[in-house]
Amino acid sequence: MNILLSSAELDHFAKVGGLADISSALAIEWEKLGHNPIVVLPKYQCIDHLEEIEFTDTGLLFTICSLPIRIFKSVIPHTRIPVFLVECDSLYNRPGIYGNPDGYEDNDLRFFVLCKAAFEIMIALNIKIDIVSAHDYHTALLLPLLKLEYGMNPLFQHTKGVLTIHNAQYQGFYEINRVSTFTQWDLYSKDIQSPFLFDNKFNALYTGINFADAIIAVSPGYANEILTHEFGEGLHDVFQQHKHKLHGILNGVNYDSWNPENDKYISEHFSLQDRNGKQKGKLKLLTSKIGMIEPEALPLFGIVSRFTSQKGFDIFHGCIEQLLEEKKLHLIVLGSGDVQYEVYFTHLEETFPNHCSFTSGYDEVLAHEILAYSDFFLMPSVFEPCGLTQLYALKYGTIPIVRKVGGLKDTIENVQMMNGTGNGITFSAFNSDSLLTSIQIALEYYEHSDIMNTIIRNAMKSNFPIGNTANDYISLFKELLTH
Ligand code: ADP
Repeated sequence: MNILLSSAELDHFAKVGGLADISSALAIEWEKLGHNPIVVLPKYQCIDHLEEIEFTDTGLLFTICSLPIRIFKSVIPHTRIPVFLVECDSLYNRPGIYGNPDGYEDNDLRFFVLCKAAFEIMIALNIKIDIVSAHDYHTALLLPLLKLEYGMNPLFQHTKGVLTIHNAQYQGFYEINRVSTFTQWDLYSKDIQSPFLFDNKFNALYTGINFADAIIAVSPGYANEILTHEFGEGLHDVFQQHKHKLHGILNGVNYDSWNPENDKYISEHFSLQDRNGKQKGKLKLLTSKIGMIEPEALPLFGIVSRFTSQKGFDIFHGCIEQLLEEKKLHLIVLGSGDVQYEVYFTHLEETFPNHCSFTSGYDEVLAHEILAYSDFFLMPSVFEPCGLTQLYALKYGTIPIVRKVGGLKDTIENVQMMNGTGNGITFSAFNSDSLLTSIQIALEYYEHSDIMNTIIRNAMKSNFPIGNTANDYISLFKELLTH
Protein backbone atom coordinates (compact mmCIF):
# COMPACT_ATOMS: atom_id res chain seq x y z
CA MET A 1 0.00 0.00 0.00
CA ASN A 2 1.35 3.46 -0.87
CA ILE A 3 0.43 5.84 1.91
CA LEU A 4 0.91 9.58 1.52
CA LEU A 5 1.24 11.09 4.98
CA SER A 6 1.46 14.81 5.48
CA SER A 7 1.58 16.44 8.86
CA ALA A 8 2.74 19.77 10.31
CA GLU A 9 5.14 17.92 12.64
CA LEU A 10 7.48 14.97 12.32
CA ASP A 11 9.76 13.61 15.02
CA HIS A 12 13.46 14.26 14.36
CA PHE A 13 12.54 17.13 11.99
CA ALA A 14 10.04 19.46 13.68
CA LYS A 15 8.28 18.81 16.96
CA VAL A 16 6.02 20.71 19.33
CA GLY A 17 4.00 17.85 20.83
CA GLY A 18 2.68 14.34 20.34
CA LEU A 19 1.65 14.92 16.71
CA ALA A 20 5.34 14.66 15.74
CA ASP A 21 5.85 11.42 17.67
CA ILE A 22 2.85 9.72 16.13
CA SER A 23 3.38 10.90 12.54
CA SER A 24 6.85 9.46 12.44
CA ALA A 25 6.10 6.34 14.50
CA LEU A 26 3.16 5.42 12.25
CA ALA A 27 5.28 5.78 9.12
CA ILE A 28 8.00 3.60 10.64
CA GLU A 29 5.54 0.88 11.64
CA TRP A 30 3.76 0.91 8.29
CA GLU A 31 7.08 0.36 6.60
CA LYS A 32 7.82 -2.56 8.96
CA LEU A 33 4.47 -4.04 7.91
CA GLY A 34 5.59 -3.96 4.28
CA HIS A 35 3.87 -0.77 3.13
CA ASN A 36 5.33 2.34 1.52
CA PRO A 37 4.76 5.48 3.54
CA ILE A 38 5.77 8.71 1.83
CA VAL A 39 5.98 11.76 4.06
CA VAL A 40 5.64 15.40 3.02
CA LEU A 41 6.64 18.19 5.40
CA PRO A 42 7.42 21.91 5.07
CA LYS A 43 11.11 22.72 5.02
CA TYR A 44 10.94 24.80 8.17
CA GLN A 45 13.90 26.98 9.07
CA CYS A 46 14.76 24.75 12.05
CA ILE A 47 15.37 21.77 9.74
CA ASP A 48 18.41 23.51 8.21
CA HIS A 49 20.15 23.40 11.59
CA LEU A 50 19.58 19.76 12.54
CA GLU A 51 22.76 17.70 12.70
CA GLU A 52 20.91 14.42 12.36
CA ILE A 53 19.06 15.40 9.18
CA GLU A 54 20.58 15.49 5.72
CA PHE A 55 18.66 16.33 2.58
CA THR A 56 19.25 16.64 -1.13
CA ASP A 57 17.70 18.76 -3.83
CA THR A 58 15.37 16.68 -6.00
CA GLY A 59 15.40 19.28 -8.76
CA LEU A 60 11.60 19.38 -8.63
CA LEU A 61 10.26 22.91 -9.02
CA PHE A 62 6.63 23.98 -8.92
CA THR A 63 4.62 27.14 -8.79
CA ILE A 64 1.76 26.83 -6.31
CA CYS A 65 -0.52 29.77 -5.56
CA SER A 66 1.96 31.88 -7.57
CA LEU A 67 4.77 30.94 -5.18
CA PRO A 68 8.00 29.25 -6.28
CA ILE A 69 8.42 25.84 -4.61
CA ARG A 70 11.52 23.64 -4.55
CA ILE A 71 11.44 20.06 -3.26
CA PHE A 72 14.19 18.47 -1.19
CA LYS A 73 14.37 14.87 -0.06
CA SER A 74 15.44 13.29 3.21
CA VAL A 75 14.62 10.12 5.14
CA ILE A 76 13.34 9.42 8.65
CA PRO A 77 16.60 8.60 10.51
CA HIS A 78 17.54 4.89 10.52
CA THR A 79 14.88 4.08 7.90
CA ARG A 80 14.44 4.39 4.16
CA ILE A 81 11.15 6.24 4.49
CA PRO A 82 11.24 9.21 2.14
CA VAL A 83 10.49 12.63 3.57
CA PHE A 84 9.88 15.29 0.93
CA LEU A 85 10.63 18.75 2.24
CA VAL A 86 8.70 21.58 0.64
CA GLU A 87 10.85 24.69 0.38
CA CYS A 88 9.11 28.01 0.01
CA ASP A 89 11.10 30.69 1.79
CA SER A 90 8.33 33.24 1.99
CA LEU A 91 6.13 30.71 3.86
CA TYR A 92 8.43 28.48 5.89
CA ASN A 93 11.75 30.24 6.36
CA ARG A 94 10.87 31.72 9.73
CA PRO A 95 11.16 30.69 13.39
CA GLY A 96 9.13 27.83 14.81
CA ILE A 97 6.41 25.74 13.25
CA TYR A 98 3.12 27.48 13.86
CA GLY A 99 4.23 30.89 15.11
CA ASN A 100 3.54 31.78 18.73
CA PRO A 101 1.39 32.61 20.51
CA ASP A 102 -1.56 32.80 18.10
CA GLY A 103 -0.09 31.28 14.96
CA TYR A 104 1.16 33.06 11.85
CA GLU A 105 -1.53 35.04 10.05
CA ASP A 106 -0.87 33.21 6.79
CA ASN A 107 -1.03 29.68 8.26
CA ASP A 108 -3.99 29.14 5.92
CA LEU A 109 -1.74 29.55 2.89
CA ARG A 110 1.29 27.87 4.50
CA PHE A 111 -0.60 24.63 5.07
CA PHE A 112 -2.63 24.77 1.86
CA VAL A 113 0.55 25.03 -0.19
CA LEU A 114 1.93 22.04 1.74
CA CYS A 115 -1.15 19.99 0.82
CA LYS A 116 -1.01 20.91 -2.85
CA ALA A 117 2.72 20.26 -2.99
CA ALA A 118 2.14 16.75 -1.61
CA PHE A 119 -0.02 15.86 -4.63
CA GLU A 120 2.25 17.64 -7.11
CA ILE A 121 5.27 15.66 -5.86
CA MET A 122 3.40 12.36 -6.36
CA ILE A 123 2.44 13.40 -9.90
CA ALA A 124 5.97 14.51 -10.76
CA LEU A 125 7.36 11.18 -9.51
CA ASN A 126 4.45 9.16 -10.93
CA ILE A 127 3.59 7.51 -7.58
CA LYS A 128 0.14 5.97 -7.38
CA ILE A 129 -1.37 6.52 -3.94
CA ASP A 130 -3.75 4.18 -2.10
CA ILE A 131 -4.30 6.20 1.05
CA VAL A 132 -3.91 9.88 1.86
CA SER A 133 -3.34 10.23 5.60
CA ALA A 134 -4.10 13.77 6.82
CA HIS A 135 -3.41 14.95 10.37
CA ASP A 136 -5.34 17.66 12.20
CA TYR A 137 -6.56 20.87 10.59
CA HIS A 138 -3.13 21.66 9.15
CA THR A 139 -3.29 19.01 6.47
CA ALA A 140 -7.07 18.40 6.48
CA LEU A 141 -7.28 20.23 3.15
CA LEU A 142 -5.57 17.27 1.50
CA LEU A 143 -9.04 15.72 1.53
CA PRO A 144 -11.01 18.33 -0.46
CA LEU A 145 -8.00 18.54 -2.78
CA LEU A 146 -8.28 14.79 -3.33
CA LYS A 147 -12.02 14.85 -3.95
CA LEU A 148 -12.32 18.08 -5.90
CA GLU A 149 -9.10 18.29 -7.90
CA TYR A 150 -6.61 15.46 -7.87
CA GLY A 151 -9.09 12.57 -7.86
CA MET A 152 -9.39 13.04 -11.66
CA ASN A 153 -5.75 12.05 -12.05
CA PRO A 154 -5.28 8.28 -12.64
CA LEU A 155 -2.74 8.20 -9.78
CA PHE A 156 -5.47 9.10 -7.30
CA GLN A 157 -8.55 7.62 -8.95
CA HIS A 158 -9.00 4.95 -6.28
CA THR A 159 -7.33 6.79 -3.42
CA LYS A 160 -9.11 7.01 -0.08
CA GLY A 161 -8.64 9.94 2.27
CA VAL A 162 -8.38 9.52 6.03
CA LEU A 163 -8.31 12.35 8.57
CA THR A 164 -6.73 11.71 11.97
CA ILE A 165 -7.88 14.11 14.66
CA HIS A 166 -5.21 14.55 17.30
CA ASN A 167 -6.91 17.57 18.81
CA ALA A 168 -10.29 18.98 17.77
CA GLN A 169 -9.71 22.23 19.64
CA TYR A 170 -7.54 23.53 16.83
CA GLN A 171 -9.72 23.91 13.73
CA GLY A 172 -8.10 26.43 11.40
CA PHE A 173 -10.59 29.28 11.04
CA TYR A 174 -9.53 31.03 7.87
CA GLU A 175 -10.75 34.21 6.27
CA ILE A 176 -13.24 33.28 3.54
CA ASN A 177 -12.04 35.75 0.91
CA ARG A 178 -8.42 34.72 1.25
CA VAL A 179 -9.25 31.04 1.04
CA SER A 180 -11.50 31.39 -1.97
CA THR A 181 -8.77 33.38 -3.72
CA PHE A 182 -5.99 30.86 -3.24
CA THR A 183 -8.08 27.66 -3.44
CA GLN A 184 -10.39 28.83 -6.24
CA TRP A 185 -13.08 26.69 -4.60
CA ASP A 186 -16.71 27.69 -4.64
CA LEU A 187 -17.18 27.95 -0.89
CA TYR A 188 -20.87 28.79 -0.91
CA SER A 189 -23.13 25.93 -1.98
CA LYS A 190 -26.57 27.05 -3.06
CA ASP A 191 -28.77 24.16 -2.06
CA ILE A 192 -26.78 22.20 0.47
CA GLN A 193 -24.97 23.12 3.63
CA SER A 194 -21.48 24.33 2.67
CA PRO A 195 -18.87 21.64 3.34
CA PHE A 196 -16.33 24.43 3.96
CA LEU A 197 -18.09 26.98 6.11
CA PHE A 198 -19.17 26.36 9.65
CA ASP A 199 -20.81 29.19 11.57
CA ASN A 200 -20.10 31.45 8.59
CA LYS A 201 -16.38 30.88 8.90
CA PHE A 202 -14.08 28.80 6.77
CA ASN A 203 -13.15 25.89 9.03
CA ALA A 204 -10.30 23.65 7.83
CA LEU A 205 -11.01 20.79 10.23
CA TYR A 206 -14.74 20.82 9.41
CA THR A 207 -13.86 20.78 5.71
CA GLY A 208 -11.58 17.79 6.21
CA ILE A 209 -14.30 15.95 8.12
CA ASN A 210 -16.74 16.47 5.25
CA PHE A 211 -14.40 15.25 2.54
CA ALA A 212 -12.77 12.36 4.45
CA ASP A 213 -13.65 8.74 3.70
CA ALA A 214 -12.86 7.95 7.32
CA ILE A 215 -12.02 9.89 10.45
CA ILE A 216 -9.79 8.57 13.21
CA ALA A 217 -9.81 10.01 16.72
CA VAL A 218 -6.64 9.13 18.62
CA SER A 219 -8.34 7.07 21.33
CA PRO A 220 -11.69 5.29 21.63
CA GLY A 221 -12.51 7.48 24.63
CA TYR A 222 -11.95 10.66 22.64
CA ALA A 223 -13.94 9.28 19.68
CA ASN A 224 -16.92 9.03 22.03
CA GLU A 225 -16.28 12.32 23.77
CA ILE A 226 -16.19 14.49 20.63
CA LEU A 227 -19.79 13.46 19.97
CA THR A 228 -20.77 15.42 23.06
CA HIS A 229 -21.28 19.11 23.68
CA GLU A 230 -18.64 19.09 26.43
CA PHE A 231 -15.76 17.83 24.29
CA GLY A 232 -16.85 18.39 20.67
CA GLU A 233 -15.36 21.91 20.50
CA GLY A 234 -18.53 23.14 18.80
CA LEU A 235 -18.44 20.35 16.21
CA HIS A 236 -20.29 17.65 18.19
CA ASP A 237 -23.30 17.73 15.85
CA VAL A 238 -20.97 17.46 12.87
CA PHE A 239 -19.25 14.47 14.45
CA GLN A 240 -22.66 12.94 15.16
CA GLN A 241 -23.55 13.40 11.49
CA HIS A 242 -20.36 11.60 10.46
CA LYS A 243 -20.43 9.01 13.22
CA HIS A 244 -20.63 6.18 10.67
CA LYS A 245 -17.11 6.97 9.49
CA LEU A 246 -15.59 7.88 12.87
CA HIS A 247 -13.16 5.41 14.46
CA GLY A 248 -11.23 5.52 17.73
CA ILE A 249 -7.73 4.10 17.43
CA LEU A 250 -5.50 4.40 20.47
CA ASN A 251 -2.10 5.99 19.88
CA GLY A 252 0.89 3.94 20.90
CA VAL A 253 4.52 4.22 21.88
CA ASN A 254 7.66 3.70 19.87
CA TYR A 255 9.46 1.65 22.53
CA ASP A 256 12.70 1.87 20.54
CA SER A 257 12.85 5.52 21.62
CA TRP A 258 11.13 5.29 25.01
CA ASN A 259 12.69 2.44 26.97
CA PRO A 260 14.45 2.67 30.36
CA GLU A 261 16.92 -0.04 29.34
CA ASN A 262 18.44 1.81 26.39
CA ASP A 263 17.02 5.34 26.20
CA LYS A 264 19.77 7.36 24.48
CA TYR A 265 18.86 10.55 26.33
CA ILE A 266 19.33 9.25 29.88
CA SER A 267 22.57 8.21 31.58
CA GLU A 268 21.21 5.85 34.26
CA HIS A 269 19.43 2.90 32.69
CA PHE A 270 17.19 0.48 34.52
CA SER A 271 14.66 -2.28 34.07
CA LEU A 272 11.72 -3.91 35.79
CA GLN A 273 14.12 -6.32 37.51
CA ASP A 274 16.70 -3.74 38.54
CA ARG A 275 15.53 -0.21 39.26
CA ASN A 276 18.73 1.10 40.87
CA GLY A 277 19.34 3.34 37.89
CA LYS A 278 16.02 5.10 38.47
CA GLN A 279 17.03 5.99 42.00
CA LYS A 280 20.46 7.23 40.91
CA GLY A 281 18.92 9.21 38.08
CA LYS A 282 16.44 10.82 40.44
CA LEU A 283 19.24 11.99 42.73
CA LYS A 284 21.21 13.37 39.78
CA LEU A 285 18.16 15.17 38.42
CA LEU A 286 17.31 16.65 41.81
CA THR A 287 20.90 17.75 42.30
CA SER A 288 21.14 19.39 38.92
CA LYS A 289 17.71 21.02 38.95
CA ILE A 290 17.10 21.82 42.59
CA GLY A 291 20.76 22.05 43.53
CA MET A 292 20.59 19.81 46.57
CA ILE A 293 23.65 17.77 47.45
CA GLU A 294 21.72 15.33 49.61
CA PRO A 295 18.10 15.53 48.58
CA GLU A 296 15.59 14.62 51.22
CA ALA A 297 13.75 11.36 50.69
CA LEU A 298 10.74 13.12 49.22
CA PRO A 299 8.80 11.87 46.22
CA LEU A 300 9.56 13.62 42.96
CA PHE A 301 6.63 14.80 40.84
CA GLY A 302 7.29 15.61 37.19
CA ILE A 303 5.60 17.61 34.43
CA VAL A 304 6.57 17.74 30.75
CA SER A 305 4.01 19.64 28.74
CA ARG A 306 2.93 22.19 26.26
CA PHE A 307 1.50 25.05 28.27
CA THR A 308 -2.13 25.53 27.29
CA SER A 309 -5.33 25.59 29.34
CA GLN A 310 -6.04 22.06 27.98
CA LYS A 311 -3.35 20.62 30.25
CA GLY A 312 -5.26 21.57 33.41
CA PHE A 313 -2.71 23.65 35.32
CA ASP A 314 -5.44 26.05 36.40
CA ILE A 315 -6.34 23.68 39.25
CA PHE A 316 -2.81 23.81 40.66
CA HIS A 317 -3.66 27.02 42.52
CA GLY A 318 -4.70 26.19 46.02
CA CYS A 319 -3.14 22.74 45.93
CA ILE A 320 0.49 22.65 44.86
CA GLU A 321 1.51 25.72 46.89
CA GLN A 322 0.23 24.08 50.05
CA LEU A 323 2.12 20.84 49.40
CA LEU A 324 5.35 22.70 48.58
CA GLU A 325 4.92 24.90 51.62
CA GLU A 326 4.59 21.79 53.79
CA LYS A 327 7.70 20.31 52.10
CA LYS A 328 5.76 17.21 51.09
CA LEU A 329 7.28 16.78 47.62
CA HIS A 330 9.73 17.90 44.96
CA LEU A 331 8.32 19.21 41.68
CA ILE A 332 10.28 19.46 38.43
CA VAL A 333 8.51 21.12 35.53
CA LEU A 334 9.49 21.44 31.86
CA GLY A 335 7.22 23.29 29.47
CA SER A 336 6.54 26.23 27.27
CA GLY A 337 3.59 27.98 25.73
CA ASP A 338 0.99 30.31 27.25
CA VAL A 339 2.68 33.08 29.19
CA GLN A 340 0.34 32.81 32.19
CA TYR A 341 1.63 29.29 32.98
CA GLU A 342 5.26 30.31 32.44
CA VAL A 343 4.68 33.12 34.94
CA TYR A 344 2.95 30.74 37.37
CA PHE A 345 5.69 28.11 37.39
CA THR A 346 8.42 30.78 37.55
CA HIS A 347 6.69 32.13 40.62
CA LEU A 348 6.48 28.64 42.17
CA GLU A 349 10.20 28.10 41.59
CA GLU A 350 11.08 31.48 43.08
CA THR A 351 8.87 30.89 46.11
CA PHE A 352 10.01 27.30 46.78
CA PRO A 353 13.56 27.12 45.35
CA ASN A 354 14.46 24.06 47.45
CA HIS A 355 11.48 22.06 46.28
CA CYS A 356 10.46 23.25 42.85
CA SER A 357 12.32 23.69 39.58
CA PHE A 358 10.91 25.10 36.36
CA THR A 359 12.63 24.95 32.98
CA SER A 360 11.02 26.99 30.26
CA GLY A 361 11.44 25.86 26.66
CA TYR A 362 11.74 22.69 24.66
CA ASP A 363 14.38 20.20 25.88
CA GLU A 364 14.37 16.62 24.62
CA VAL A 365 16.99 15.38 27.12
CA LEU A 366 15.31 16.90 30.15
CA ALA A 367 11.93 15.59 28.97
CA HIS A 368 13.30 12.03 28.98
CA GLU A 369 15.01 12.54 32.35
CA ILE A 370 11.86 13.84 34.03
CA LEU A 371 9.72 11.05 32.58
CA ALA A 372 12.30 8.43 33.55
CA TYR A 373 13.37 9.52 37.02
CA SER A 374 10.27 11.05 38.64
CA ASP A 375 8.17 9.01 41.04
CA PHE A 376 4.89 10.49 39.82
CA PHE A 377 3.82 12.29 36.65
CA LEU A 378 1.09 14.92 36.76
CA MET A 379 -1.50 15.23 33.97
CA PRO A 380 -4.71 16.85 35.25
CA SER A 381 -5.94 17.64 31.72
CA VAL A 382 -9.25 19.36 30.99
CA PHE A 383 -9.42 17.08 27.95
CA GLU A 384 -6.83 14.74 26.47
CA PRO A 385 -7.34 13.22 23.00
CA CYS A 386 -4.85 10.47 23.82
CA GLY A 387 -1.80 11.76 25.64
CA LEU A 388 1.55 10.13 25.10
CA THR A 389 3.54 11.31 28.10
CA GLN A 390 1.50 9.20 30.52
CA LEU A 391 2.30 6.18 28.33
CA TYR A 392 6.00 7.03 28.33
CA ALA A 393 5.93 7.57 32.11
CA LEU A 394 4.42 4.10 32.65
CA LYS A 395 7.30 2.38 30.88
CA TYR A 396 9.76 4.02 33.31
CA GLY A 397 7.73 3.12 36.40
CA THR A 398 6.78 6.77 36.87
CA ILE A 399 3.22 6.68 38.14
CA PRO A 400 0.77 8.89 36.25
CA ILE A 401 -1.73 10.97 38.20
CA VAL A 402 -4.36 11.85 35.62
CA ARG A 403 -7.84 13.17 35.14
CA LYS A 404 -10.21 10.53 33.78
CA VAL A 405 -10.75 11.95 30.29
CA GLY A 406 -10.15 10.79 26.70
CA GLY A 407 -7.06 8.68 26.23
CA LEU A 408 -6.07 9.06 29.88
CA LYS A 409 -9.24 7.19 30.83
CA ASP A 410 -8.43 4.51 28.25
CA THR A 411 -4.87 3.89 29.44
CA ILE A 412 -4.65 4.61 33.16
CA GLU A 413 -6.43 2.35 35.60
CA ASN A 414 -6.81 3.54 39.16
CA VAL A 415 -4.91 1.49 41.74
CA GLN A 416 -7.08 -0.98 43.66
CA MET A 417 -5.12 -1.92 46.75
CA MET A 418 -7.38 -4.86 47.57
CA ASN A 419 -6.45 -6.82 44.47
CA GLY A 420 -3.14 -5.23 43.56
CA THR A 421 -4.33 -3.88 40.22
CA GLY A 422 -3.95 -0.48 38.56
CA ASN A 423 -1.13 1.47 36.98
CA GLY A 424 -1.89 5.01 38.16
CA ILE A 425 -4.03 7.37 40.14
CA THR A 426 -7.12 8.88 38.51
CA PHE A 427 -9.66 11.51 39.46
CA SER A 428 -12.78 12.90 37.80
CA ALA A 429 -13.84 16.35 38.94
CA PHE A 430 -11.79 19.19 37.51
CA ASN A 431 -10.94 21.08 40.69
CA SER A 432 -8.06 21.64 43.09
CA ASP A 433 -9.59 19.47 45.82
CA SER A 434 -9.71 16.39 43.59
CA LEU A 435 -6.14 16.94 42.49
CA LEU A 436 -5.04 17.48 46.08
CA THR A 437 -6.75 14.26 47.18
CA SER A 438 -5.03 12.32 44.40
CA ILE A 439 -1.63 13.71 45.31
CA GLN A 440 -2.25 12.89 48.97
CA ILE A 441 -3.06 9.32 47.96
CA ALA A 442 0.22 9.25 46.02
CA LEU A 443 2.13 10.51 49.08
CA GLU A 444 0.52 7.79 51.16
CA TYR A 445 1.51 5.07 48.66
CA TYR A 446 5.04 6.48 48.58
CA GLU A 447 5.38 5.75 52.30
CA HIS A 448 4.81 2.03 51.67
CA SER A 449 7.47 0.41 49.53
CA ASP A 450 5.44 -2.79 49.03
CA ILE A 451 2.53 -0.83 47.59
CA MET A 452 4.83 1.30 45.45
CA ASN A 453 6.58 -1.80 44.13
CA THR A 454 3.27 -3.30 43.04
CA ILE A 455 2.13 -0.13 41.28
CA ILE A 456 5.50 0.37 39.61
CA ARG A 457 5.49 -3.23 38.41
CA ASN A 458 1.97 -2.81 37.00
CA ALA A 459 3.00 0.43 35.30
CA MET A 460 6.17 -0.95 33.73
CA LYS A 461 4.29 -3.97 32.46
CA SER A 462 1.62 -1.81 30.78
CA ASN A 463 2.09 -2.14 27.05
CA PHE A 464 0.88 0.22 24.34
CA PRO A 465 3.05 -0.52 21.31
CA ILE A 466 2.68 1.71 18.26
CA GLY A 467 2.71 -1.51 16.21
CA ASN A 468 -0.85 -2.19 17.39
CA THR A 469 -1.92 1.32 16.40
CA ALA A 470 -0.32 0.99 12.96
CA ASN A 471 -2.00 -2.38 12.45
CA ASP A 472 -5.41 -0.94 13.27
CA TYR A 473 -4.85 1.88 10.77
CA ILE A 474 -3.90 -0.65 8.08
CA SER A 475 -7.02 -2.76 8.76
CA LEU A 476 -9.15 0.34 8.34
CA PHE A 477 -7.29 1.35 5.16
CA LYS A 478 -7.85 -2.13 3.69
CA GLU A 479 -11.53 -1.98 4.53
CA LEU A 480 -11.83 1.41 2.80
CA LEU A 481 -10.04 0.17 -0.30
CA THR A 482 -12.23 -2.89 -0.68
CA HIS A 483 -15.50 -0.99 -0.43
P1 ADP B 1 0.36 16.95 23.23
O1 ADP B 1 0.45 16.28 21.90
O2 ADP B 1 -1.00 17.43 23.58
O3 ADP B 1 1.40 18.01 23.40
P2 ADP B 1 1.26 14.38 24.27
O4 ADP B 1 1.36 13.86 25.66
O5 ADP B 1 0.49 13.56 23.32
O6 ADP B 1 0.70 15.86 24.36
O7 ADP B 1 2.72 14.52 23.63
C1 ADP B 1 3.66 15.45 24.08
C2 ADP B 1 5.00 15.16 23.45
O8 ADP B 1 5.77 16.36 23.42
C3 ADP B 1 5.83 14.16 24.24
O9 ADP B 1 6.74 13.52 23.39
C4 ADP B 1 6.59 15.08 25.22
O10 ADP B 1 7.76 14.50 25.71
C5 ADP B 1 6.89 16.25 24.31
N1 ADP B 1 7.06 17.53 24.98
C6 ADP B 1 6.08 18.35 25.43
N2 ADP B 1 6.62 19.47 25.95
C7 ADP B 1 7.96 19.35 25.82
C8 ADP B 1 9.06 20.19 26.16
N3 ADP B 1 8.89 21.37 26.74
N4 ADP B 1 10.31 19.74 25.89
C9 ADP B 1 10.49 18.52 25.30
N5 ADP B 1 9.49 17.70 24.95
C10 ADP B 1 8.24 18.12 25.21
